[in-house]
Amino acid sequence: MTSNTTSPCQQLPWKDTAPSQVDVAIVGGGFSGLVALVHLCRALSSDKFAVIECHPRRAPGVAYGGCDDEHLLNVPAGRMGPIADDMGSFHRWLETRQPGKFRPDSFAPRALFGEYLTEFVLNEVARSGAHVSFVRGAVIDVRDAHSQVELTVVASGDASHQGAHHQTIVAQCAVIAPGVPASPAPWAHIQRDVPPQALIADPWESGSLHGIDPDADILVLGSGLTAIDVVEGLRRAGHRGTVRMLSRNGRLPLPHADHGEPPLSMTKEQLAGSPAKVLSALRAAARQRMAGGLGWQGVIDAVRPHIPAIWKSWTASERRRFIRRARALWEIHRHRVPVQVLADITAQRRAGTLLVERGELLALKSTVHGAIAASVRAPDGVTHVHVVARVINCIGPAMDLRHTIDPLLGAMQRSGIATTDELGLGIRSDDDCRLMNANGVPHQRVVIAGALRRGDLWESTAVPDLRVHAARAAATLLAQLAGQQTKGRN
Ligand SMILES: Cc1cc2nc3c(=O)[nH]c(=O)nc-3n(C[C@H](O)[C@H](O)[C@H](O)COP(=O)(O)OP(=O)(O)OC[C@H]3O[C@@H](n4cnc5c(N)ncnc54)[C@H](O)[C@@H]3O)c2cc1C
Repeated sequence: MTSNTTSPCQQLPWKDTAPSQVDVAIVGGGFSGLVALVHLCRALSSDKFAVIECHPRRAPGVAYGGCDDEHLLNVPAGRMGPIADDMGSFHRWLETRQPGKFRPDSFAPRALFGEYLTEFVLNEVARSGAHVSFVRGAVIDVRDAHSQVELTVVASGDASHQGAHHQTIVAQCAVIAPGVPASPAPWAHIQRDVPPQALIADPWESGSLHGIDPDADILVLGSGLTAIDVVEGLRRAGHRGTVRMLSRNGRLPLPHADHGEPPLSMTKEQLAGSPAKVLSALRAAARQRMAGGLGWQGVIDAVRPHIPAIWKSWTASERRRFIRRARALWEIHRHRVPVQVLADITAQRRAGTLLVERGELLALKSTVHGAIAASVRAPDGVTHVHVVARVINCIGPAMDLRHTIDPLLGAMQRSGIATTDELGLGIRSDDDCRLMNANGVPHQRVVIAGALRRGDLWESTAVPDLRVHAARAAATLLAQLAGQQTKGRN
């Protein structure tokens, strides 16, 4: 390891070369991969680790490394600590940097969390003495090799991976934490002659929103958290033109509750039964809470600890029904925005500079003036054409991994080392995070962490859940490695 200082804006020391042999290889240098690394380093100070990241950013992952300095967290600072029994660590760090500026229930900038997480990881690694290589590269396959695991790594940015220079890392164990890939941009088959720079497939890609005429009109596909982040970022950068947000339901995320409301707790018995029964229990609890002058938000927070158990109790057809009929509504209640952000969005809608519409994108064509004509079918069946300078994909993560174009997740499914749940929401794992193969057999040396566990747990999205999964994944590997050492001695 290179550094144990705590100067501002440190970065992880990414290098292009991978070690050929390590004790544990970690795929993905986002929150989950790094928190698993910290747990492993704390316990195995003399071991060798490699973290492989295909897209090193200024801070870990899209959430904390792709944002501008003012994009806000959607979880209060006091609950963002990466270790479950020290949830307040991020807030304490904020206090040392900017005393009194943020309360534990404030929504601090995501970039500050990214800075904190980087420092935390660097300090933990340095303190442990473990040898960690941070490798810049994309893992395109993970397979078994003589009681070990072999990972194939190619240089980042080689989209085709054809003829790319491959490196192989052999590891005793592996953590797979690449997050869920983004939904492919929805214009592949419906666009004609539109210049590539006018279609922004990944708004978190560095520089992707630069160079837009500040008075131009823009079409944003999606109306969730990413869409809101993008609009806020554009406005901060001085964009004055009209932004049209288009989604199938035209619904924006709802606001967080006021600070300091008393929490609610619900029992698993209150939340038993089919999706319809659970949703009606939630509605009843929300009505009761609102009658007492409190926000409905407490009910969503109360159900969160029970979500994995509820999800596991549902059959595949109940899960499917939930996704088809209730997911959109669930998402806007669950993935909320700070009140001040929503107030700004509402002000833009009132001023007519932001339009939030329901509809379906039918076609994108280039106009003679170099703009884009976007044909959109409204809910009444009428097609409208909007002329815009850019179309930005803010649809969010892919919802079906069975036919994914992600090279790693595709290869692991084809080889049978991994499989998805019936709905294709995630990659299957057992309760100890062990990767499950197509026959339902848990892998002894490979665990998964992060949003890929969505199919088994549904709620596997934000730091309060992910830090627990990352710790569990690390504990599983520690037990495996300890067992190996014991066998080796006997
Ligand atoms: C815009 C945005 C804002 C968010 N805000 C919050 C918030 O305020 N609070 C909160 O709790 N959660 C938030 N989240 C949820 C967030 O996703 C989690 O908090 C967390 O960062 C996810 O971490 P992860 O490591 O599981 O996945 P990721 O952060 O997605 O990290 C996975 C990493 O793996 C890399 N990778 C993927 N495939 C490969 C491969 N084949 N080889 C090598 N590397 C690979 C990716 O480049 C990525 O860096 C937000 C998410 C987004 C997208």
